[in-house]
Amino acid sequence: MQTLLAAVWAPLERGVRRLACMVAGHDYRVVRAMNPGSRKVACDRCGGAWAMHDPTRTFVPWDDEFEAMYAPGGPLDPATDPRWRNDA
Ligand SMILES: [Zn+2]
Repeated sequence: MQTLLAAVWAPLERGVRRLACMVAGHDYRVVRAMNPGSRKVACDRCGGAWAMHDPTRTFVPWDDEFEAMYAPGGPLDPATDPRWRNDA
């Protein structure tokens, strides 16, 4: 009984959290600002993550491709993005 409860509890809890987000909306939080117009937002309740881009008004689910693009050394690595620099 104990193991059965453990097996169904996690997916059940996730389902309830997703349902809460569907009804009440996601609890958005900025987790990473890549540059002034782009950020990664996440919802602590359901665990979802999205990419937000102001210039194109884009809001799409965060996926592995975004992760790779903004990873250290990646093509859009914030550390090498000139838009962050104030020494111009
Ligand atoms: Zn959510």
